[in-house]
Amino acid sequence: MPRPIQAFIDLNALENNLHVARRATSSRIMAVIKANGYGHGLLRVAEALAAADGFALLDIQDAIVLREAGYRQAILLLEGFFTADDLPRIAEYDLTCVIHSSWQIDLLNAYPKRASLDVWLKVSSGMNRLGFIPHQVTQTMEQLRRHAAVRDITLMTHFAHADEARGIDEQLEIFDALAAPHRVARSLANSAALLRYPKSHGDWVRPGIMLYGASPFADTSAQQLGLKPVMTLSSRIIATQDLRTGDEVGYGAIYRAEHSMRIGIVACGYADGYPRQAPNSTPALVDGQRTQTLGRVSMDMLFVDLSKLPNAQVGSEVVLWGAGLPIEEVARAAGTISYELMCAVTKRVTVKT
Ligand SMILES: *Cc1c(COP(=O)(O)O)cnc(C)c1O
Repeated sequence: MPRPIQAFIDLNALENNLHVARRATSSRIMAVIKANGYGHGLLRVAEALAAADGFALLDIQDAIVLREAGYRQAILLLEGFFTADDLPRIAEYDLTCVIHSSWQIDLLNAYPKRASLDVWLKVSSGMNRLGFIPHQVTQTMEQLRRHAAVRDITLMTHFAHADEARGIDEQLEIFDALAAPHRVARSLANSAALLRYPKSHGDWVRPGIMLYGASPFADTSAQQLGLKPVMTLSSRIIATQDLRTGDEVGYGAIYRAEHSMRIGIVACGYADGYPRQAPNSTPALVDGQRTQTLGRVSMDMLFVDLSKLPNAQVGSEVVLWGAGLPIEEVARAAGTISYELMCAVTKRVTVKT
């Protein structure tokens, strides 16, 4: 028998979540599938989201894989190109590039071939990550407009607080003022802004996390938003131990039995992508029943509390997150976010669809 850990990817849930996005907006949808489709598998995700108007990712090679698989919609490189060598391939495969820094314009100016590239000019409207600062935007826009290799320009920005109480107003105001003089398409909204702020939708929305069935908000669950979990990470109990009062569990003994109890050893550890920082009491399901982890997560194994689950035994199924156990809950317990858990699942985990 192979090691029992697996990631089940629910393709119907992906389609459902794309429909949720469609119902929430009349803008075109640029499905964000960076980081191997948030850990779900690039081509697998693209196929289930084939009705999207575009795909956004980082790696040129991944973009080429999509083109060669037959996808004809816009493919946006979220960090644009990295070197001059990227430009001929971008032109050949008709990829759309984010332009976020002046060094990219310099490379573009040195690009000898007349190509027709679509570019998304990125504005840093508050988060000071990628993008031109507001007073550089008009001049940069003019440079791009005049550029022989540039076909179409879209103006974009990214929000720092769309998922929080602070919201998007400050950044939206800055962006709208910059965009007003120009007749160009606009793109601003990630999942949180798509779901909460219709006024930010512009011409293209860029949902990521919601497509994978997780809520971007701390105060609203995925279920409340109509989203279905796409990834279910599960494994099985491969051994049990009967503990007496005072017995210790795992590396560093961060758990000690307060009474006699039974625990299960699960074939899942941080080398599978389960977060090592998950403390005692992180939720898990055993045979569909809620319980909790105990002790420190090790490379290949973790412990679950079986004290209230007398029927659990070697072979019992353990859901680490997904169907029946929202990934956001596990992420919160482990001090991280669902995004990080999804992306962290490693190659040795068998994927099922
Ligand atoms: C990752 C990313 C998104 C998607 O964000 P979610 O919070 O996952 O919806 C949108 N836009 C940009 C520029 C991104 O990098």
